[in-house]
Order: sequence, then C-alpha cells, then structure tokens
Amino acid sequence: MFDVIIIGAGPSGLFSVFQAGMMGLNCAVIDTLSSPGGQCNALYPEKPIYDIPGHPRILAQELIDLLHKQIEPFKPTFFLEQQALSINQNEDQSFTVTTAANNKIGGKTIIVAAGGGSFGPNRPVIKNILEFENKSIFYSITKQEIFHNKKIVIAGGGDSAIDWSLSLSGIASKIYLIHRRNKFKATPESMKKINTKVEESKIELVIPYQLHKIHGENGRLNSIEVINFDNNTKLIEADYLLLFFGLSMNIGPILDWGIDIENKHIKVDLSTMQTNIKGIFAVGDIITYPGKLKLILSGFAEAARACHSAYSIINNGTEIHFEYSTTKGVPTK
Ligand SMILES: Cc1cc2nc3c(=O)[nH]c(=O)nc-3n(C[C@H](O)[C@H](O)[C@H](O)COP(=O)(O)OP(=O)(O)OC[C@H]3O[C@@H](n4cnc5c(N)ncnc54)[C@H](O)[C@@H]3O)c2cc1C
Repeated sequence: MFDVIIIGAGPSGLFSVFQAGMMGLNCAVIDTLSSPGGQCNALYPEKPIYDIPGHPRILAQELIDLLHKQIEPFKPTFFLEQQALSINQNEDQSFTVTTAANNKIGGKTIIVAAGGGSFGPNRPVIKNILEFENKSIFYSITKQEIFHNKKIVIAGGGDSAIDWSLSLSGIASKIYLIHRRNKFKATPESMKKINTKVEESKIELVIPYQLHKIHGENGRLNSIEVINFDNNTKLIEADYLLLFFGLSMNIGPILDWGIDIENKHIKVDLSTMQTNIKGIFAVGDIITYPGKLKLILSGFAEAARACHSAYSIINNGTEIHFEYSTTKGVPTK
C-alpha cells in the first residue's frame, strides 16, 4: 500500500513525489506516456523556459531531468505507459487505482496531477498514416539531429508549426510549410522571420493547401500530396512530415471518478488542494480555482500544499511539524 498514488508524471506530479518524500511518504506514479515529464517532455523538450524561479533559462527537458534527479532519493515506483482508468474506495477509506495495464495499485491518498488529461495528437484523416508514425511522421520533436539536410514538410497554422519551421530551417535542406488557410496564427515578428527564410529559399509556403495523401514504403516517406480548394494537387518530395494540428487533451476516465469537475477541470479547496472526495487531491494544470495560472510554478506550490494535506489524512489529522528543507536535508541513500 502506497502512501500517495500520483496520477500524472508531469512537473506537478514529479514535484509532488519530492514533497511527499520529504514528509516520509512513499509514492506510486502513473502516466500514459512512456517517460515522465508531461507536456514539457512530450511537447516542447528542446524549448527554453524562462519563468522557473532561479533558472533564467532552462530547456524543458533539462527541467524534467532535474526534477527526476531531485526525487531519486525517495525511490518512487513508476507505472508508465498505462492510463489510470478507475478509482475505487475501500472499506478502510484507502483507494485502489486500476490502470489500463490492469495493475491494481493501493494507496492511502491520491494526488491527481493529470494536466490536460491523457493527451494525444490530432491526426489528419489519411488512411495509411499509422504505417509512418514515429518513423518519418512525428507530432512532436525530441531529436532535432535526424532532420539534418533533410526535406521536411511541416503542416499546421499555429505557433508550433511556425516555431519549428524557423528552428529547423537552420539544419534542414528545405522546409515546406503547409497550411489550409492563407494566414497563420503567429505574431508579426515570427511572420517577418518566416518571410526572410522564404526569401532565402530555406522555407517554401504551400498555402492554402492541405494534406491529401502520403507516399512511401516501410514507414519511410517519399512524397506528400497536397490539395487546395479547387482540387488542384501538388506532389512534394519529403523525408519527414511534422504535424502540428494541436493536441486533443482528453480527461477521459477522470470524469467518471466522482470528482467535482468544472469545464473539464477539477475543483479543489484551495486551502488543502482536496477535491470533493476526502483523500483525493489535485494539482497543476488539471485544477481550477479563481485566479488559477496554468504555469509550472503554480503546480509546484500546489504540490507542496497537497502533500501537507495528504500527510495529515494519513496520520489521522496530525499536521506535520513544519521544517525547511535546509533544516531537514534529504536522504542520502
Ligand atoms: C509549448 C508550451 C510551452 C509552455 N511554456 C511554458 C513556460 O514557459 N512556463 C510555464 O510555466 N509553463 C509553460 N507551459 C505550460 C506547462 O507545460 C504546464 O503548465 C505544465 O506542464 C503542467 O504540468 P502538470 O504536471 O500539471 O501537467 P502535464 O505536464 O500536462 O502532465 C500531466 C501528465 O498526466 C498524464 N495523465 C493524464 N491523465 C492520465 C491518466 N488518466 N492516467 C495516467 N496518466 C495521465 C499525462 O499523460 C501527462 O503526462 C507550456 C506549455 C506548452 C504546451
């Protein structure tokens, strides 16, 4: 039986492990993704973050690596690549969380740190797309070096498509930026940079076109066929296709856990981070309260509050004697 089951291994979930560990509580951590890090790891690992206190500039992946290092002394048990499907409350008031891998995990308390929910990319409707995914079609970028001197088609009309077109134009041999409209949802500064790259022939705008067919074999792309509103098609030679059509974040099973939800977010009591169910807390992007900021630093503070509350429940109402980490130190083994 774990003291705390944490659902979601994003920054808020990882920091909850630290806070719980400092109070002597052990944790299980569940995530649908194959590695911890939530949005930072899955969506923007190589982007710099500028508003983490004490870090003037830190790459999202570096932050996750450091959070991971920080929780090492507390030896959490990870249950990765499995969605938390259901929560049942036992007679002794403890909980059992059942995951998609059919693990039944017992815990005295739960912290839901599920961000925007289990998220997955919005896929275009193209029949053979699955054959190419994670080989030559990607929805997020973790290793930029594979794009060196390659022809890349980037599809999408928002910040991600624009930012990655600009970033990769430095290493790719050519970028084709496809969007079904003539205008992108991007700042004038970004569009100015795009236009400069177009003049330098590093980026070619393919607008207003949308994806129509993909050609290749064994997961390797040869070309992409695009189509416009007049049914004119164009064939573009390509090594990689990067799709930025946004994410469908789906809170899915959380809706069935009996937790009070408002607009797909979990309502919490701000003084404890507790949901309407005693012993179930929530932190990070998944929660709502007046003035909530969806920032990593908010999730960190909420994690500290939730762990203090969980400690009190686990110890029959006894509040933890408050000590700074400078006084307590961290376990060395
Ligand atoms: C492009 C981009 C740039 C950003 N830049 C900044 C920035 O500069 N500064 C900043 O502070 N914030 C930034 N953010 C926001 C920041 O990433 C989020 O606030 C933060 O990731 C929220 O952390 P979290 O742990 O609450 O949730 P998430 O990071 O969303 O992690 C939640 C995790 O829970 C998992 N999960 C959900 N449901 C289940 C389930 N049922 N079972 C198992 N696992 C589940 C998900 O798979 C996910 O891994 C940015 C976000 C994006 C997309």
